[in-house]
Amino acid sequence: MLPNISGPAAAGRLAETILEALRDASDAPEVPIATSIGIALSPDDADDRQSLMSHADVALYRAKKEGRGTYRFFEAKMGAEVRDRRQLDHDLRLAISRDELWLAYQPQLDIRHGKVVGFEALVRWRSPSRGEISPGVFIPVAEETGAILQIGDWVLKEACREAASWKMPLKVAVNVSAVQLHNASFAQELHQILIETGLSAKRLEIEITETALVRDLNRTLATLRQVKALGVEIAMDDFGTGYSSLSNLRAFPFDRIKIDRSFIKQVNSNQQAATIVRAVLGLGKGLGLPVIAEGVETDEELRFLQEESCDEVQGYLLGRPASIDSFRQYTHLEAGLPPAASDKRVANG
Ligand code: C2E
Ligand code: MG
Ligand code: MG
Repeated sequence: MLPNISGPAAAGRLAETILEALRDASDAPEVPIATSIGIALSPDDADDRQSLMSHADVALYRAKKEGRGTYRFFEAKMGAEVRDRRQLDHDLRLAISRDELWLAYQPQLDIRHGKVVGFEALVRWRSPSRGEISPGVFIPVAEETGAILQIGDWVLKEACREAASWKMPLKVAVNVSAVQLHNASFAQELHQILIETGLSAKRLEIEITETALVRDLNRTLATLRQVKALGVEIAMDDFGTGYSSLSNLRAFPFDRIKIDRSFIKQVNSNQQAATIVRAVLGLGKGLGLPVIAEGVETDEELRFLQEESCDEVQGYLLGRPASIDSFRQYTHLEAGLPPAASDKRVANG
């Protein structure tokens, strides 16, 4: 509280000073101090104590979202965004009990044998009031509010139950968020789900991103070791988009690398992207980790990956995420690819 501040500019200068002082104080790497500051002004932003504090909090939240280590002033439109998110969170929590979530599945293909070897489960929310909402929108909100724990639990159960019902013992890959991994009983709950659904552990793979690792390295590592001890495999998702990828690959018990689709998209147009993909494939080979490329959309991309001996592919070219019923020929028939898919295309659902 700064009762005698002369105006916004002075508040900004003070914020700079605080940030700088704490930055200097955090020279000891074992105790990093991260600082973010939100500022609300009276009477412009609010004239009672409670709304002033809550507006400052909204601005603080924005400062964190925009990279941390910075400060932001409250703006009226931020308040509206916060209300929208709260409403979204509220609707999302009801979505599970109201059966509004469902899983789409996307095939993963072994390039050498031209065979579907598994599916990635991707959560979908069909809201009566909002329509179809992309997981790219609601998963980050759910991670922030903690609703991801419930959602993630539902997704795991549903995907395991579904895969256990297939005649073919194909694999199922499930995305797991950092928040779920930080829950100390994650592996235990996973074990329980495997027992309940009767899915063999080796048919389940969890996909995690590098951001999941960075937040709390030791805790995540402990959880991942337990997961691995169950016999469940672990894939590093969106590889190449996070940080310290290389040391993560060594430190964590991964079974598979998924190259992010942003690199695949450019393999034929951008020399650098092609070089990165080749390097990741070499890295996988050297470390004995199979590599799967995601976001394969064109024949040229597929050919490139084939020539570079990539192990598996996933993407619109092979099949868009769709209801599992549309993939019955893979989940329930002994047959390999049907004649229509001999060009390695899987029926789009
Ligand atoms: P992701 O795990 O990297 O999933 C791949 C995303 O790429 C999916 O988007 C998929 O529909 C999309 N995709 C697949 N093939 C292609 C292609 O050829 N071209 C293009 N442009 N895109 C393709 P989606 O389903 O919107 O999911 C987005 C992200 O949301 C996922 O990225 C994942 O991080 C997250 N997510 C989805 N389902 C879950 C879930 O059950 N739990 C958690 N924690 N996160 C999830
Ligand atoms: Mg994924
Ligand atoms: Mg991905």
